Amino acid sequence: MKTPLSNPALPALTGQSPESLAAWLKDAGEPAFRAAQILEWVWKKKVTSYDAMTNLPAALRAKLAESFRLTALEHSTTQGSADTTRKFLFRLHDGRYVESVMIPANPALYGEKSDRRTLCVSSQVGCAYGCKFCASGLAGFARNLDASEIAGQVLAAEQLSGERVDSLVFMGMGEPMANLDNLLAAISLITGEKTLHLGARHLTISTSGLVPQIKKLAEHPQQIRLAISLHGATDDVREQIMPINKKWPVAELFEALEYWNSKKKQHLTLEYILIQDVNDSLEQAAILAKKARKLGAKVNLIPYNTVEGLEWKRPPNNHCKAFQQILQNAGVTANLRLEKGHDIDAACGQLRLKQETAEGIIEAPMKR
Ligand code: SAH
Ligand code: SF4
Repeated sequence: MKTPLSNPALPALTGQSPESLAAWLKDAGEPAFRAAQILEWVWKKKVTSYDAMTNLPAALRAKLAESFRLTALEHSTTQGSADTTRKFLFRLHDGRYVESVMIPANPALYGEKSDRRTLCVSSQVGCAYGCKFCASGLAGFARNLDASEIAGQVLAAEQLSGERVDSLVFMGMGEPMANLDNLLAAISLITGEKTLHLGARHLTISTSGLVPQIKKLAEHPQQIRLAISLHGATDDVREQIMPINKKWPVAELFEALEYWNSKKKQHLTLEYILIQDVNDSLEQAAILAKKARKLGAKVNLIPYNTVEGLEWKRPPNNHCKAFQQILQNAGVTANLRLEKGHDIDAACGQLRLKQETAEGIIEAPMKR
């Protein structure tokens, strides 16, 4: 399905909160009850044209079309099929690209039932944090996504697949915590009763560890889940692969996580990519076990997905299992996914990297 962007200079209707839409209607001299009708067409019936909004007068439809693009995302390509992971690539109004990944039958990784569909959502074009193993950070940072571009990924994935998304992980391209205002505006569209109406408990934000933002989000009233990209249990290991660790080392990060725990009911998740000979020593496992236990956090172990142009490798399966066993022996819940099936073109960020490189928007990334 192609959803052409009518006029890229206009704001997207999918970025309007119920309040801002009501204000617009008032300014336009339209009755207030139109807001509910418009929101229903956009978010519940998920129409892809103004013409489909048949209970609106033609004049209002024309006014809407003059003021708003219907959507911020133009569908570019889909990889994968319904019973596997599907990856959607979207073109933005300025010619940049983002991707979202729909993962069926998520095996209870983020507290969901196994017959559920999870969408992995991007929050930025590129990423400024430069983790050395990650495709999203390889070509640097381009820009933040706005609320319509973030929430619009969920709407578009539902339109394209014809299926309902049950839960979201903000684990696509970008660092969601570095785009917190737009993220929270998007979350209010995603969770709002008149808009997408997904429960906050079904949303997981993943962060590489922005301490002030973690503390700020801890104060947020909604019960959003938090996952931390740890990938190293000590400063010496973590700072080799995650430059952010220099700014907010492990001890400060864990202090912020304790604060999060004091404010929130849900358990934290620690994500730990296993990269051969980089962070996969059994000593790291033992330190990780201690820290996870103290925090009451569960651990998701993710054998590294190879990234084109990078030399990192995943450890052999039996080594991954030994790492997991140390955590389990310490009484920590530790998931390990060994099958590679869920990744088309490996990790998130790669599809966009390929597309933008092919179009000459960015240079082919080099190994750091
Ligand atoms: N910036 C946020 C969210 C996006 S990254 C963060 O870092 O948490 C989402 C997750 O994918 C992170 O845990 C990240 O470390 C992981 N990831 C990145 N590249 C990967 C790769 N090649 N293989 C496996 N996981 C990867
Ligand atoms: Fe950015 Fe997250 Fe990738 Fe690090 S892992 S470069 S923070 S997207």
